[in-house]
Amino acid sequence: MRPEILFPLFAPVTSLKGVGPRIAGMIEGLAGPKVVDLLWHLPSGIIDRSFAPQLADVPDGALVTVTVVVGEHMKPRNRRQPYKVRCFDDTGSISLVFFRAHGDYLTKTLPEGETRVVSGRAQVFGKELQITHPDHIGTLDELDRLQAVEPIYPLTAGLTQKPLAKAVRQALELAPSTGQMPEWHDPALMGREKWMPWHEALTQVHAPQSEGDLSPTTIGRRRLAYDELLANQLALLLVREKMRRKPGRALLGNGELLGAVEAALPYTLTGAQNQALAEILGDMKSPNRMLRLLQGDVGSGKTIIALMAMLQAVEAGAQGALMAPTELLSRQHFAVLQTLCAAVPNVRIAALTGRDKGKARKEILAQLEAGEIDILIGTHALFQETVKFHDLAMVVVDEQHRFGVHQRLALTDRQGQATDVLVMSATPIPRTLTLTVYGDMDVSRLEEKPPGRTPVTTRALPLERLDEVVAGIQRSLDNGARIYWVCPLVSESDVLDVSAAEDRFKALAKIFGDTVGLAHGQMKPGERDKAMADFAAGTITILVATTVIEVGVDIPEASVMVVEHAERFGLAQLHQLRGRVGRGAAQSSCVLLYASPLGEAAKARLNILRESDDGFRIAEEDLRLRGAGEILGVRQSGLPQFRLASLSDHDDLLPVAHDDARLILQKDPGLKSDRGQALRTLLFLFERDAAVGLIRSG
Ligand code: ADP
Ligand code: MG
Repeated sequence: MRPEILFPLFAPVTSLKGVGPRIAGMIEGLAGPKVVDLLWHLPSGIIDRSFAPQLADVPDGALVTVTVVVGEHMKPRNRRQPYKVRCFDDTGSISLVFFRAHGDYLTKTLPEGETRVVSGRAQVFGKELQITHPDHIGTLDELDRLQAVEPIYPLTAGLTQKPLAKAVRQALELAPSTGQMPEWHDPALMGREKWMPWHEALTQVHAPQSEGDLSPTTIGRRRLAYDELLANQLALLLVREKMRRKPGRALLGNGELLGAVEAALPYTLTGAQNQALAEILGDMKSPNRMLRLLQGDVGSGKTIIALMAMLQAVEAGAQGALMAPTELLSRQHFAVLQTLCAAVPNVRIAALTGRDKGKARKEILAQLEAGEIDILIGTHALFQETVKFHDLAMVVVDEQHRFGVHQRLALTDRQGQATDVLVMSATPIPRTLTLTVYGDMDVSRLEEKPPGRTPVTTRALPLERLDEVVAGIQRSLDNGARIYWVCPLVSESDVLDVSAAEDRFKALAKIFGDTVGLAHGQMKPGERDKAMADFAAGTITILVATTVIEVGVDIPEASVMVVEHAERFGLAQLHQLRGRVGRGAAQSSCVLLYASPLGEAAKARLNILRESDDGFRIAEEDLRLRGAGEILGVRQSGLPQFRLASLSDHDDLLPVAHDDARLILQKDPGLKSDRGQALRTLLFLFERDAAVGLIRSG
């Protein structure tokens, strides 16, 4: 249960004064739906209202905060005239000017004869000093607040500074004070980093006094960033703990199957592959449960390793399963694994997807339960209730970033016995980020690629040179090439992406006729698969697609990749796309078409891609250029979206948080101590409620 002290923070923003449904909608889009989201909405600028001259000394055009006595109200005689209020001090006078004013409101806020503090931009008209629509009007009691340096918050269309700032101020007032919420951090760390208590840090970051205070490296901001990182790491480790609580089993074999398959390979495993395999087999043979990430760039040779791991389970008399994110990929894996297993005809491999229905499906399920299938490949359909394994011991999950931590849990939890889990990811996440996503796993990395590939030549061209590209495609087709033409991620909406792809498809079909095919996410899976299959078979030679082809598709004959509006893609995503070509013997090329003029950052991105083919280096550069949140296309990211931590600025804190979390759970796995209780509050604060549910009881 969430601690009561946090209740007001988790109320909807409409619970705040001045926030009706309209403003709430905009705040939700900008920061989030709850009061707590406003706490994390940090200022991006400041307005300095500290300049407080007497009226005689007010320079034309200056932003001033003046203390004045209210004089006469001059009501407009027609609608076009402004409402003016004369004010004065000992040295001079000023007019406050309002267009389309509510007289009632003004007589209330500016009662004649009273002293008021007014802040805004002063201007001289003729001989008259004026402030038109002052930013603030308050009483002398409010002088301190009004004459201060004011935070400026990032806005969204339709939302103005004032109501947003007011909402944030209220949110801050609802934040538990230091006395109400015990500290969750280790005092030694607090001392070393000179961190102040949470509430103080929060107040500070929302009250910048200078531009420098806006930096993510201030002490207050670092403390808050660390809060978030620690919550993230604790949550991941709780998942890990929970998964490991079920004892694993030692999967031992005689090496026959692995040996036979390896001997039949047309190549020898690379050093990196052997190393990773040794780590994986080591885990499997141990009685502990395996939870391991195999991270390797596209084409680094993960498939054979996955197969070996599953064969190890089969040697031990159990079953293995491989889960892919799409039907297409699971069928592709099925085909590849069948070929690889030609040397071990006794191993029975089957595929099961959501599309298998009726009798065929029943038969597979029966065989599976009877233990007549050794290795099953499929989509998440593998883990529906109706699918019962005879003795599943090893699960490989491909392209994990499409599944979240909780799906990961659900998937392994459903099985009666504790299965070993190997997750394969082709997303080369920078080292620093691996912890935030996979802090719950051990990691094997394939950094060396199999030999004998010709690197893909990459060119960047402006869209104006489309004609040249089309001519180039004609030449490539004449040489027997197959071509991917990827249309951009236009927006978060698939529909728009699709219409861009359909337009391009029509335009290319006009030129190249019926050798052009189309594949996108909105097609019926059957149609899309057919387009892919036709492309694989060569009856289609140009495949226009959205990013559906991004992950894992393996058609060695494809040797040209055109990416339209490449400037809209993230680096890692472009790298993934480019990885679709250069898989066969032919010299391959990648054309990045961009809309000019190209911004500095986009230019830098495309340059890196031209220079490097190393996914890990590209990922690091991507992080450097864009900040963590944007590393991957938003849609496929699966990376945690940090609100306070910036992985380029706080990367030094991440390993600290990881070790901290480990130590905490070692000493106090049930989070029962005083600090443990405080840490539970931290988890709730960052909405890791599910993780709290995993805390060991008893
Ligand atoms: P990934 O799944 O990591 O993207 P794959 O497992 O599909 O990569 O391997 C890419 C290609 O490299 C496949 O065609 C595979 O047969 C080949 N391959 C894998 N390991 C080696 C190796 N050690 N030497 C040569 N080729 C290899
Ligand atoms: Mg793969």
